[in-house]
This record gives sequence, C-alpha cells and structure tokens, in this order.
Amino acid sequence: ERSQSFNGSEKHVQVIARPRPLSDNEKSQNLTSCLNVNETRREIIVNCKTSTTRFFNYDHVFGFQTRQQDVYKVVVAPIVEEVLKGYSSTIFAYGQTGSGKTHTMLGVFPIDKVSKDTVGAYMSMLESDAGIMPRAIHHIFQGLQRQYIDYTVKITFLELYNEELTDLLADPTNEQPEKIKIYEDKDKTNTIIGAIEAPCETPFDAFKILIKGAQRRQTAETLMNASSSRSHSIFTMTVTMKDAQGDVDLAGSENISRSGATDKRAREAGTINQSLLTLGRVITALISNEKHICYRDSKLTRILQDSLCGKTITSIIITLSPANEAETLSTLEYGHRAR
Ligand code: ADP
Ligand code: MG
Repeated sequence: ERSQSFNGSEKHVQVIARPRPLSDNEKSQNLTSCLNVNETRREIIVNCKTSTTRFFNYDHVFGFQTRQQDVYKVVVAPIVEEVLKGYSSTIFAYGQTGSGKTHTMLGVFPIDKVSKDTVGAYMSMLESDAGIMPRAIHHIFQGLQRQYIDYTVKITFLELYNEELTDLLADPTNEQPEKIKIYEDKDKTNTIIGAIEAPCETPFDAFKILIKGAQRRQTAETLMNASSSRSHSIFTMTVTMKDAQGDVDLAGSENISRSGATDKRAREAGTINQSLLTLGRVITALISNEKHICYRDSKLTRILQDSLCGKTITSIIITLSPANEAETLSTLEYGHRAR
C-alpha cells in the first residue's frame, strides 16, 4: 500500500469527466447542449431548464472535442507507467447509455480487417480513433519489451449481467460453460475462479482477445435485444512481474421509470441499479474517508474491491451526453467533489 501520486495529486481515486459533442442525429432533432466545460477550472456547468445553473468539479475535465490520444495521454499513460513499475490499477468508465463509454474504452478500430491483415490493422488502429484499451495494450507491451527480459501477460474478459458473470473468452457454443465464482480469501481479498486466462506473448495476441471478447459482447447484446447494454464488462490484464491492471466499462445508469420497464426489464434495470448504486455508495464512502465500506453488497464492488480499497490506482471516467439533462445530472453527482 502507498499513497498514490499521479497527475500531481496525492489521491488514490481520480475522477475525470469527458463530455461528448452533440451527435448529428441530436442536432437534426434540434436538441441543444445543456453542458458547458471550463477546462482550467476543471468544471462542468449544467444549464438546467428546471432549476438554476449547476457546477461540478473533478480532478480533470476534458473538452467536447478532446481526441482519444489526449485522453490516453492524460488519464492512462501515467497509470500504465506505474503498472510497468509493478503497481496495479483500474480504469473504469461510468455514464448513461450513449454517453461514450465504449468510445472511450474501446473506440473505433478495424474489427473486420484484423483477421486478414493483423499488422496493418494494428498500426492503423493506433493512429485512428482507438480507445484506452488497445492503446494501453500497445503501451504495456512496449514497456515490458523495453524494461524486462522476462514477463508474462494474461487476459481475462468477463461480463456481469443481472449479477451473473459470463466469460467473454469462453466458447459460446459450449452449453455447459464453467461457472465463474468470486471467492473470498481469509484475508478478505476476492479472487475470481473459473475464468479463462488467455496468455499473450505479443500485443497482437492481446488485441485479438480484446476484439474477440468485444464481438461476443456485441453478439450477446443483439441476441438479448439489449442494445442499451445493460451489462458491465471487466477486462483484466495481469502482468506477472507484479500486479494486475484492469479496465471496466460500466453499463448505462438510466433509472427504471426511464427505461419503461416490463417485468424482465424491471429486474434487469433493478439489478443494474443495485450494482451501480453500491458502487456509488462505495465511491462516496472512499472520497469522504469513511471507515466502513459496503463492498459486499454487489458483485461489481466485490470484483473492484481490491482496486478501490487503496492498493491500486483507480481512475473513474464519467462520460456525459450533452442532450439529456436529467440523466447527465445523475451521472455528474457521481464522484463529484465539492470545491
Ligand atoms: P455508451 O457505450 O456509453 O453507450 P458509445 O460509446 O457507444 O456510448 O457512444 C455513443 C455514440 O456517441 C457513438 O456513436 C460514439 O461514436 C459517439 N461518441 C461517444 N463519445 C464520443 C466523443 N467523445 N466524440 C465523438 N463521438 C462520440
Ligand atoms: Mg457501450
């Protein structure tokens, strides 16, 4: 354990806001942005229709047009450097559906080209709109190859849906896949059992695994007709020199009434809220230095417990959609720091 120092601050949980611009579709519906950004003051300003203007402060605030490579440079690159020294870290995205979680974490990369032209696709991906995960893979392998003679890298890629864990790397035609469990050790650390750990010798291996899992997730969403992705996915890269490094892409935070819930949907929405509410409570407790923290109340917080409890560097990127005031406000309240 240690007190973390990155981006010049001594905090172990950093909260960063990333609003996206209005989409063409939103513009064509004459929707207007309810958000303003003051990057120097690290402030998001919400021009509320229903109440007075509100201000929210974070450890870092990006502008609407911030490029993927700049998000990486500011938020992730310093963390990966820590990982290369043997510390572990977690980066997760939180925000309503359509606010830019997948864009931020995964981004745009040429899925179709990869099997045909791996090297070319890999290079063009890093120049394009690639998100945090492919860039981190590239950076980690570069660092390992430069600094270490001996290392191993393993990847697990899980999905949490209705408080149930699925292995995104497992063969989807297997009708009896291994059950994934979270096991609590005597020293209260949580271990995930039954997940496939894919060994990676090169960044290409890791990139292929990332794509495989992301595609499975997409297919599953389409099958379940759940385009709003009511699931969390957890991508973990373990480097043997020391600890683990992971990414979490959290699902939408819309509330039950908004998602117009039928029975099944209500249960799904209820569960998603249980995980996210617990995570919210945990983060609030951490930010206000409370002693008792309720990690046990959801699977998501059990999985993230080691990341959140002070052994690792954690960055939360809250993604914001400019056109939806109510949901954006509820996202903003998450992880906001009073000045
Ligand atoms: P989520 O995963 O949170 O549901 P997505 O990442 O799928 O949201 O983003 C929704 C849409 O908005 C996508 O078409 C994506 O390309 C676009 N988008 C998201 N973030 C940005 C951004 N920062 N700049 C430009 N477009 C973005
Ligand atoms: Mg998404």
